[in-house]
Amino acid sequence: LESIRLPRMMQDTALAACARGKKIALVPTMGALHEGHLSLVRAAKAENDIVVVSIFVNPAQFGPGEDFERYPRDLAGDKEKLEKEQVDMLFLPEAQAIYPEGFKSWLSVEGLSEKLCGAHRPGHFRGVATVVLKLLNIVAPARAYFGQKDYQQSLVISTLARDLNLPVEIVVRPTVREEDGLAISSRNIYLSNDERKAAPVLYRALSAGAEAIKNGSSKIEDVKKTIHQVLRAEPLVTEIQYASVYDPNTLDELAAIKSPPVLLAGAIKLSNIRLIDNLVLNDLK
Ligand code: AMP
Repeated sequence: LESIRLPRMMQDTALAACARGKKIALVPTMGALHEGHLSLVRAAKAENDIVVVSIFVNPAQFGPGEDFERYPRDLAGDKEKLEKEQVDMLFLPEAQAIYPEGFKSWLSVEGLSEKLCGAHRPGHFRGVATVVLKLLNIVAPARAYFGQKDYQQSLVISTLARDLNLPVEIVVRPTVREEDGLAISSRNIYLSNDERKAAPVLYRALSAGAEAIKNGSSKIEDVKKTIHQVLRAEPLVTEIQYASVYDPNTLDELAAIKSPPVLLAGAIKLSNIRLIDNLVLNDLK
């Protein structure tokens, strides 16, 4: 596993591989790698000549008071996992190299970035969009891999790739879950034992909403009530930031559930730990 720290060196290496006709895949991550990340790596490996994984805890996507400083970091463990998957290159830039003195160019995907998570994390998707555009320019992948776990993020990135004519295919892969349904996340290690036991409540709530839709509920109020009832039954849930049924293209809450696809999505706090999850229903029966 070759590690590259300098963006210029990564770009030279990538462009040389492109010139030899190699198809590069990029899997952008913030490290503390788990089975969700590795599922993206395996898909990338199967479909491309060279797999580049980036690990960069992007300061620009964390708000003041968020967990940037204490975000889990495990470079040795990450390298071991990537070697096992036979990843070709690890891109490990320093924040100074990504945002050097005088950095001024920020990318906003308007309309999508302010909704759902964006309403609770102002500036988050601007930080995400900017760093992903930079990573795509540096690594020059034919395909880049993202997880549905972060549905809104994948929509923001697909939209920016389309709007800016980026020569890359954005691939979105299914959410990998623990056996009890909890979506795997680097942040799950923040959970105490009791919180970990309670954490699948978000998946259970969204699943109950999906079940209600499949049983013929077309009223948004009914489905939302079902979701919120499950969440409120768990005493460790301290906040429901949003939880409802949305248009998967605009992220607007639906007025009525008429035709597929629909997005069920939620963000909650368990004590002080923020969890997100989502389900996309491609048919309503
Ligand atoms: P992160 O390191 O959390 O920024 O995630 C890096 C990439 O892995 C993003 O595209 C995430 O959506 C994706 N990812 C994170 N968790 C999962 C999961 N449980 N299943 C599938 N993809 C995931």
